[in-house]
Amino acid sequence: MSRLIYLDNAATTKTAPEVVDAMLPYFTEHFGNPSSIYSFAAANKEVIAKQRETIADALGAKANEIYFTAGGSESDNWALKATAEAYAAKGNHIITSKIEHHAILHTCQYLETRGFEVTYLDVDEDGVVKLEDLKAAIRPTTILISIMYANNEIGTIQPIREIGEIAKEHGILFHTDAVQAFGQVPIDVDACHIDMLSASGHKLNGPKGIGFLYIRTGVKIRSFVHGGAQERKRRAGTENVPGIVGLGTAVDRAVRTMKERTVKERELRDYLIKRISEEIPYCRLNGHPTDRLPNNVNFSFRFVEGESMLIRLDLLGICASSGSACTSGSLDPSHVLLAIGLPHEIAHGSLRMTLNEEITKEDIDYVTDNLKEIVALIRSMSPLYEDFMKKQAK
Ligand SMILES: *Cc1c(COP(=O)(O)O)cnc(C)c1O
Repeated sequence: MSRLIYLDNAATTKTAPEVVDAMLPYFTEHFGNPSSIYSFAAANKEVIAKQRETIADALGAKANEIYFTAGGSESDNWALKATAEAYAAKGNHIITSKIEHHAILHTCQYLETRGFEVTYLDVDEDGVVKLEDLKAAIRPTTILISIMYANNEIGTIQPIREIGEIAKEHGILFHTDAVQAFGQVPIDVDACHIDMLSASGHKLNGPKGIGFLYIRTGVKIRSFVHGGAQERKRRAGTENVPGIVGLGTAVDRAVRTMKERTVKERELRDYLIKRISEEIPYCRLNGHPTDRLPNNVNFSFRFVEGESMLIRLDLLGICASSGSACTSGSLDPSHVLLAIGLPHEIAHGSLRMTLNEEITKEDIDYVTDNLKEIVALIRSMSPLYEDFMKKQAK
């Protein structure tokens, strides 16, 4: 089999074998609808309750504050739209940041068409929200602050506790998109005054199409799906029992392995960052140097197109991601890279590599050795680089 080095774990992760094993019986033997009366099916109700407990424990929350959804995007949509509606009598102002995932940004844009006003906070050059800006943005009509826990592109972790404190002081709800952070860093919803939190199974070695929204007791929020009484009548629909079992198993696994896994990832992340910084000229590490996800590496290389790097890496069996959205039909560079102040041409030459626990030092060496050659080769074909080198030589 040809070599595959998967460095796109921020896009999705491999479902852990123990997660798949835990799920399988719920497709075959235990297929019953948890709402049915007979014990064969009703047993699944307890199974769901147990998973809810596991997830709540991981956050310092209560089991009845965990609501299963179809993933991170749904949780983000629900948190924003349904609290905006529920608190509309109090105010119409929402604060978020410019570097949020599109599940937040596009939802905010939608809410703007429905009479809500949204402040999109700038971030500093490392991608950190400035607390003074946040305080200054608060109005008497502010009902919700939504700031992501950690960024999916550049890995920067936000000062969530401080943001939560500010929100609490002002009596404003605080939602955080923790899809990238959950399972990678310890999270305590009480310590950080988090009122709502989004997470997704497939970003932590669980299945796709399942996630949850944590909603603190007392938060007013509209039902997202009307119908049956599932999820305390807030999100109707027959439960995705295999998905819920997979998510719970993945969360349990993530919590159990977090320390060991992230120590190893951090070490390799820093080794990869060091090798690239030292061996490839004219590059820049994007994201905070230390307050970043244990598995995230994001670099911009001058005089290089991100897509050409990706294609050449792909030929070598290396899966990574670039900092532009060319592949999705738009030529705009990533909104995150622009928000941290990168000029368009540098943002276009960006490469994100997100590690997992299976990556070895040999993998990192293989990737770096090849990346060095790829960057040099692409630059050797660039007239801009040629000009630049001529000027340097003078
Ligand atoms: C992946 C991701 C999402 C979307 O989650 P899905 O489960 O794929 O819908 C939302 N926010 C962040 C930060 C993400 O990384």
